[in-house]
Amino acid sequence: MTLNNLAQSYVHLVLAIGQQDSGYVDAYYGPAEWKEQAQKLPLEQVLAMANILVAQFEKCPPAAGGEVLRQQLLGLHIRAAHAYVRKLMGETMTFDQESQALYDAVSPTVTEAQLDGVLAELSDLLPGEGALNTRMAAFTQAFAIPRDRLDAVFSAAIAESRARTKQFIDLPDDEAFRLEYVTDQVWSGYNWYLGNSSSLIQVNTDFPMQISRAVDLASHEGYPGHHVFHLLGEKHLVREKGWVEYSIFPLYSPLAFLSEGSANYGISVVFPEVERLAFERDVLFPLAGLDASKVERYYQVQHAMQKLSYAGNMVAQRYLDGAIPRDAAIALLMKYSLQEEARATQRIRFIEANRSYVINYNLGQDVVKAYLERRAGDGGQEALWKVFTELLVEPRSASMMQG
Ligand SMILES: [Zn+2]
Repeated sequence: MTLNNLAQSYVHLVLAIGQQDSGYVDAYYGPAEWKEQAQKLPLEQVLAMANILVAQFEKCPPAAGGEVLRQQLLGLHIRAAHAYVRKLMGETMTFDQESQALYDAVSPTVTEAQLDGVLAELSDLLPGEGALNTRMAAFTQAFAIPRDRLDAVFSAAIAESRARTKQFIDLPDDEAFRLEYVTDQVWSGYNWYLGNSSSLIQVNTDFPMQISRAVDLASHEGYPGHHVFHLLGEKHLVREKGWVEYSIFPLYSPLAFLSEGSANYGISVVFPEVERLAFERDVLFPLAGLDASKVERYYQVQHAMQKLSYAGNMVAQRYLDGAIPRDAAIALLMKYSLQEEARATQRIRFIEANRSYVINYNLGQDVVKAYLERRAGDGGQEALWKVFTELLVEPRSASMMQG
């Protein structure tokens, strides 16, 4: 079996798993007939396919040259798909076992004592009496984008992140995406990559959208995040190299760690802090009709909030491992993610749907950041863009970046 044969079998396996779980295949731009041929097979048969593929991969001789990384990552993806089928068949895994099997990573443990220190810092930043999450809600209310200004603000943020990205990454002339506003979702934004360099980006309007989310979502979902990640993969890996495994994107796979991690880290690559503040103050705040004199204070609070990011992993782990019930998990999110009850409940629904996927955002970002900043050295922004782009077209898993 050559790597190309194994890759092809892997695509068929992922398509077969997708028949069992409609959320599993996030994007597919391989041959249309493969998708049409995929049938809903009994799970035992899908497991048999996965078993065979794992065995074939293990017998494959070590690759050389430019295919070494390819082989390593394909092996991790085959094993992750195998683990996902076993999960569908009822195998139980702890939170850490699952994230290791699916994303090749385990989130570090955070303690409540560590988080309490950040809460104290935020308490100083947020005026008033009462519970901190209530004070946070009162503070952020002044930074919500009015619904009728949402499109103007998002369009401006996307145009800016696109123009900035184009200075450093060669984007195809026909690349495009559509922006759509939706409701009743567990996420706040989603990029659906449609192939041929085009995406549909959906923004969920269930909750008032904070002004910081405009740049975050424009960069994370669009440029240089998911949209760019997919279009570069399609162009360089699938079309140029013929690496067919990159024509499919299983959501619960090691590639998701890189995709979410690089999309989150990419926000600060495309908008370095000082430039972001200036853009928010001069363009976005006025477009949203918000008081631009408060931009620095607002981002001071956002910064402190970032330090609470791993609280979400802690809660997800305890809840999914059965250590705490649902209402206690919601209460912990209200305390340590400073969310109001409705928002914490939405987050629990996300955790129930996507489980240990949550680590891909924060741990993914931290691993990508450490890996890229080590490689960029003192080369400044230019060097950072270079290594960032290289990583998108030479994908690596968590352990491959940490090793
Ligand atoms: Zn994402």
